[in-house]
Amino acid sequence: MTTVTNETAVTNEQAAARARAVIPGGVNSPVRAFASVGGTPLAITRAQGARVWDVEGNEYVDLVASWGPALVGHAHPEVVAAVQQAAAQGLSFGASTPAEAELAEVVIDRLTVNGVRGIDKLRLVSTGTEATMTAVRLARGVTGRDLIIKFAGHYHGHSDGLLADAGSGLATLAIPGSAGVPAPIAAQTLVLPYNDRDAVHAAFAAHAGKIAAIITEAAGANAGILAPEPGFNEFLVATAHAHGALVILDEVLTGFRVSTAGWWGLERTDGAIWRPDIVTFGKVIGGGMPLAGLGGRAEIMDQLAPLGPVYQAGTLSGNPLAVAAGIATLRLADAAVYERVDHAAAVVASSLSEALEDEGVEHVISHAGNLFSLAFRSGSITNYDEAREQEAWRYPAFFHAMREQGVSLPPSVFEAWFLTAAHDDAAIEHIVSALPAAARAAAE
Ligand code: PLP
Repeated sequence: MTTVTNETAVTNEQAAARARAVIPGGVNSPVRAFASVGGTPLAITRAQGARVWDVEGNEYVDLVASWGPALVGHAHPEVVAAVQQAAAQGLSFGASTPAEAELAEVVIDRLTVNGVRGIDKLRLVSTGTEATMTAVRLARGVTGRDLIIKFAGHYHGHSDGLLADAGSGLATLAIPGSAGVPAPIAAQTLVLPYNDRDAVHAAFAAHAGKIAAIITEAAGANAGILAPEPGFNEFLVATAHAHGALVILDEVLTGFRVSTAGWWGLERTDGAIWRPDIVTFGKVIGGGMPLAGLGGRAEIMDQLAPLGPVYQAGTLSGNPLAVAAGIATLRLADAAVYERVDHAAAVVASSLSEALEDEGVEHVISHAGNLFSLAFRSGSITNYDEAREQEAWRYPAFFHAMREQGVSLPPSVFEAWFLTAAHDDAAIEHIVSALPAAARAAAE
């Protein structure tokens, strides 16, 4: 039998050195390199429930959760069984499967809140980057316009037009965008300060008839948490529509994580009737497998090939293993799961604040549903500039103190902390008991 081994390196340092020799920076996604916290990146070999293990056999309570997908915990037996069953039937067919329609039905059903359908149809792709890239192309195809509005600090993946002031790894590395993006492409993206209604009005006034869409994270979560001010998303939809433009609500991170119907589901509980034109999904929708999607009203979605003129395709789109993991995860993610995640997040966030308070460390915890993030500054944070104005230099000491006590945090202060339904009392207690020493380290 052929086995893929994780056991050849004995220490994290050896694993990192080996990887650096053959993989740029030793990583396949920049934030994994620990650039902003320093030290040796963890080489993970195994994950189960709320815990991960590195190549040295060290166990950590995990607050990364694969950057979001592991909502029901790592390697949930029902998700693993679903993937194993699918794998035994064949890894990929290059043809449609009944399971793809089942997943679309599950998603459409979950996005039906108070009798209002959030989306009519769903197209599956493999990554969040593809989902937003295709959503932008679709919005351009439908409107016949080129310009896109995005918000500073919002991350929508790494396609050319969406990298400007993008948060996530770019915030971590303090770089404004990417080399290799042609200026004429970057010029098609207008970057505005988040939560700034005047800036949105001004952009539509300055570029009348030219803006195809506003793309916005449903709740900003890639420059720390930047929650939308009450009514801001609804304002975006009303303003865009008044100018003949669309709104792409990026729920790649928030979708199925903050509620059964994502951030839109949370905002809809007040009876509001706003509806985005295109919604993008990723992360939880694939339960840890490469799967993402975009959905919207039928008349918009039917502009995609083969029905319409907007092209999108993928050899592995709707991959059967990924779809099986997504269906199993979403079927597990019932109201009780969200109650558990919400509870775990609330306890950890308030304990974090208490620990820092006790050490006199200035801080603010920003929340968006069960997502939260820490910033070393006072006051609330509403945009990217405010998120960056903080004593970020305190985070590496905090991060490493937690790591030494067996807690794996996101290796950047600009990332959200991800709790899962597998964070039981023991896992929560482990995190909480590690916080005072980390707060002391951050105070020094
Ligand atoms: N959109 C948002 C809001 C995200 O948080 C991310 C990834 O973190 C993406 C898009 C890109 O998704 P992926 O990393 O799957 O390409």
